[in-house]
Amino acid sequence: SIPLGFFGGIGGASRNGVLIKGGNYLEALNDVKIAVFDKTGTLTQGVFKVTGVVPEEVFSKEKLLEYASFAEAHSSHPIARSIVEAYNRSVDTEKIEDYEEISGHGIKVKVEGEEILAGNSKLMQREGVAYSQDKIIGTVVHLAVNKKYAGYIVISDEVKEDSATVMKRLKEMGVRKLVMLTGDNREVGQAVGRSLGLDEIHAELLPHQKVEQVERLNREKGPKEKLLFAGDGINDAPVLARADIGVAMGGLGSDAAIEAADVVLMTDEPSKLVSAMQIAKRTRGIVW
Ligand code: ADP
Ligand code: MG
Repeated sequence: SIPLGFFGGIGGASRNGVLIKGGNYLEALNDVKIAVFDKTGTLTQGVFKVTGVVPEEVFSKEKLLEYASFAEAHSSHPIARSIVEAYNRSVDTEKIEDYEEISGHGIKVKVEGEEILAGNSKLMQREGVAYSQDKIIGTVVHLAVNKKYAGYIVISDEVKEDSATVMKRLKEMGVRKLVMLTGDNREVGQAVGRSLGLDEIHAELLPHQKVEQVERLNREKGPKEKLLFAGDGINDAPVLARADIGVAMGGLGSDAAIEAADVVLMTDEPSKLVSAMQIAKRTRGIVW
């Protein structure tokens, strides 16, 4: 027979906005020793604002934003949404051809015969676009037109209000290692990670490199230790699958992530994770 406590625990969790897809995950929450987090949308709000538009001499700010908006019009990435919003004009999407979203890099697209690239330094490198690397001042979207560097857009995101407290609570609850994995640049990754007191910060990762990091951490675990990964999931599904407990942020999370996850936080507050672990602890008390 199935111990009643499992049902109570899962039901109690769901009333607290945490969906747990099975008693084994509720039980496993008691043994989390390594907790791994995606940055954007998980520890930060994932709602970006454009704070600077810096074109090369030949373009106006308006023109640079227009190019960027054409590139980002079809993307659901939070970075893309912020750029389209800053441009604040409609884009004739019928002009967009050969749209390609390159995960962990950005966008490549053709508009009226011109190739537009919008993304990070990795995208520029991959496409052979040269530019003078100034000091990085935040999350940056570089732009190139026909492989010629056109300038960059600076965007900023904010750490969620409860992220710092949650990291502290997790340590108190016995998690020995807190890790952040992000596709964003080192400077931003370090700034966010340090402000939250994380033990390991890994930045500029492609989706498959996030998987490799989780596999490395899995090998580091003791026999009864569990690894938890929490992400908002634009492309986190493969990582969610490798964790003992994959947690998706339900509000912002993609359908693929919600599907792949073992635990879904219905709202995007990291503090829901602490609630889930508290419920797990009480439930273990009842069951055993
Ligand atoms: P994170 O780990 O922060 O959730 P992602 O894997 O979603 O990051 O993206 C990693 C990086 O790839 C972003 O920080 C950005 O530099 C770049 N990128 C991804 N999608 C886009 C896009 N639509 N436009 C511009 N840049 C993008
Ligand atoms: Mg992400």
